[in-house]
Amino acid sequence: MAINATTEIYGIMGNPVAHSLSPAMHNAAFTALGLNKAYLPFPVLDIAQAMAGLRALGIKGISVTIPHKEAVLPYLDSIDPIAKKIGAVNTLIINNGTIHGANTDWIGANRALSEKISLKGSSILLLGAGGSARAIGFGLLEAGASLTIASRSPEKGRALAELCGCPWLPFTEAASISADILINATSMGMGTQQYLLPVVKEALSNFKVVMDIVYAPLTTRLLQEAEQAGCQTINGLAMLLYQGVAQFELMTDQQAPVEVMRQSLLNTLDYKP
Ligand code: NDP
Repeated sequence: MAINATTEIYGIMGNPVAHSLSPAMHNAAFTALGLNKAYLPFPVLDIAQAMAGLRALGIKGISVTIPHKEAVLPYLDSIDPIAKKIGAVNTLIINNGTIHGANTDWIGANRALSEKISLKGSSILLLGAGGSARAIGFGLLEAGASLTIASRSPEKGRALAELCGCPWLPFTEAASISADILINATSMGMGTQQYLLPVVKEALSNFKVVMDIVYAPLTTRLLQEAEQAGCQTINGLAMLLYQGVAQFELMTDQQAPVEVMRQSLLNTLDYKP
């Protein structure tokens, strides 16, 4: 789509943002639908100035990523109730200078899981107590699942479990329980931790479905072992895609072209069919 005088501007703000897959994904969707919109990366250090800039420049919607998901909260005019509980937003919708905050990370996780299993009444072991685990945890409660959290850091894990009203386990004891679903929301499995398994492989048959939110690599060691153990598996692309789909729909009020967005992510990630 050629940029012209009526192009509407969207984007992502964070620091860094150069690695983000969102510009390619959202621009592919705009092009597919023939929308006169463009989505740009904004590396942001000063939140107050950035938020004033969004209003002043008439930007329509912004994705928010690390480290600003909590820092933008004081600048919002309104917020979705669940984003308020999570204490973080990843989506801003700007209308006539008013900024509304939402969180679509939990929507992405719930939709990814719901393709394999009904969440209502399911038991879930959630590994991790960082930003993603927090969004996923509150989302699962919203869907009527029952949760246990296991984390390396006892303070963070216990605090999150208390907020979610659920039991907490030390990370090393995660293999001792059975549940319908295991979710890895830690960074184990990516980068320098690529070969680490968050749960010993002998325990993986304790779960029907295993979801890893790590998306680089797409098929983590956890997912390989879970498949061997006979579990259904969900890779990190599903949550990434569906959080983006929900963002697109909130920001543009149009139905997202899901398959175009999925293909854009697959083109960027190390996909081997
Ligand atoms: P945070 O830094 O907020 O949290 C990371 C969590 O991982 C913490 O609970 C940390 O524990 C835990 N952790 C890291 N290493 C280990 C280890 N060796 N053993 C046990 N626990 C460990 O990160 P995020 O929550 O933002 O992201 C987590 C992962 O999810 C990343 O890989 C990220 O790329 C991916 N992600 C995927 C998304 C998707 O849509 N698919 C969306 C967002 C993130 P502790 O507190 O003890 O340090």
